[in-house]
Order: sequence, then structure tokens, then C-alpha cells
Amino acid sequence: MPHQRIPSKLRSIVVLAALVVSQAAHPTQVSVQTKPPAPKTPRLYVFDCGVLHVTTQGVERYHVTPAEVGETRMPVPCFLVAHPRGALMWDVGVIPDSVVDAQPQGATSTVNPMVAAVVTRTLKSQLAQVGYSSADITYVAVSHAHIDHTANLDAFTRSTWLTTRAERDFMWAENNPRVNPSFYTTLKDSLRTLMIDTDEHDVFGDGSVFIKAAPGHTPGHQVLILTLASAGRVMLSGDLYHYPQERTFRRAPQDNEFNVELSAASRRRIEDYLQTTKTQLWIEHDFNANAKLKKAPGYYD
Ligand SMILES: [Zn+2]
Repeated sequence: MPHQRIPSKLRSIVVLAALVVSQAAHPTQVSVQTKPPAPKTPRLYVFDCGVLHVTTQGVERYHVTPAEVGETRMPVPCFLVAHPRGALMWDVGVIPDSVVDAQPQGATSTVNPMVAAVVTRTLKSQLAQVGYSSADITYVAVSHAHIDHTANLDAFTRSTWLTTRAERDFMWAENNPRVNPSFYTTLKDSLRTLMIDTDEHDVFGDGSVFIKAAPGHTPGHQVLILTLASAGRVMLSGDLYHYPQERTFRRAPQDNEFNVELSAASRRRIEDYLQTTKTQLWIEHDFNANAKLKKAPGYYD
């Protein structure tokens, strides 16, 4: 169809309207480009790094039944702590961003014969949404090295990696089906490694964010504790528990723990700690609890 002549006055209105529409459609484009200034107090951002679909047999590994837990799916959250003195990434997903980018409809992977992962959003896109790139991350740490917590570790080569020697050894142990070393090829010889050899590690040196040992699920499994100005004291559980019913039923930890006794001892010690310090526990894989969490670009502070 040939173009119709539009009177010049009307033409400028059309152009103006188009401008308004295009600005409204991309309201965040300008803010995405610049890194926000460091916050005055620590902030915790929660990202969606996927969902795990677990078979009945997979659920029962945790000494609970699908009927007892109701919701058998597990979320895979990733967390960014933005602090006045830097930024910390905690747990980095189940499928690498490069794979997710190539599958716009959602990437899938088999974590093990009982667990399938689905990921629809990249970690980097969610970081960008709050003004960060992986280059802006001062520290990276994972609760433990299992496949569903480590997929994007190779994105954080410029960050200081906070780990224990025991977990590091586990990550490259021969015939270890619980890990995927292709997720962290650049870490092995990284000079930016800080070996944690204390029960608690104060990440930024002001007591507001620290990593605490909770071994058993893996040799160097650890949890993250934050003191936030409004939200109060929060602990990110790693995989100390998976389903909330494991906590209430107080049954033995799953048989495929790296060390069941150590895991049970860590649960007792952490429960005491939570009670004494009035800290709330966020079970990272708890689907219903995760659904209620404020997601990025919102945050807890
Ligand atoms: Zn996990």
C-alpha cells in the first residue's frame, strides 16, 4: 500500500507519540547502563535461577514422601548481597547462562536420574536489571559445589572465591557424580581464592555478612548469615535442608549425604545458633517460601 501524505502538523504529533511510546516501552534502559552507587546498608537481592522437578524416588531420598511435602518442586535461587564495601554472589544456578541464552523457550538439564532442571532466565540478565555485571562482584561463594549451585561460577573469574579447602578438594575429586567441573574451569588455578579455615568468615569485615561452616551435605558445606537493617537477621541455608518438612519432622538426613553424622551434627548446631541469635532460616530449595520472597529488582535491606 502506498504511503499516504500526512499533513505536517499531524506528522509531528505522530512522531511525538511514537517517542512517548518507545520511552515507555524501555523505561529501564538508561538505568541498566550505569552501576548504582554502593548502598548505605547491605541489600539482599533474590534471583530466579530455575526450578528442579523431582521424581517420587527423588523426594523420598530426603526421608519424606510427596504426600508429606505437598509441593515436590524445588526452586533454584541465586543471591546478590550488595554491601557498602563491595558485592557478594551466593549460589550461581543449575544451568550456565550460555546454555540458557541459546534456548529462549527455557533450557532443561538432567541433574541426576531423579532431578530435572528448567531455567528460563539468565543470571547475568537479572544482575544487569539491578545494575551489576559479573565484573562488579567482589566475592563469589557457593553454599556447596553440587551441580545446582555452581553452573555460572566461571562467570566470576574477577571475583575473589571464598571456599574451604575441603570443598575445593571435593570439586575436583575423581569420579564425583555430584559436581560438574566444566562449570568452573577457571577456578582451579585462580589466584583470587580465599581459603576459609575458621567456623565463621566475616565477608566485608563489619559483621553484617558472614559465612558459617555447616559441613555434612558436602565436606565444606556452608551457610550465609546476614544482618539487614529492616529485615533483621537472615540465614541462607544452602542445602542444610531441602523441604521444610525435613526440619519439622527432624528425621535423619538423607542417606546420600557426604557424611550423614556430620550433617546431623551441623543441623543441631545451626538450630541452636538460629534460636540463640534469633535468626530466621530461609531454606533455599523451599518452593512455597521462595514463591513469597520479594524478587529482584526488589530487595531486602
Ligand atoms: Zn541444592
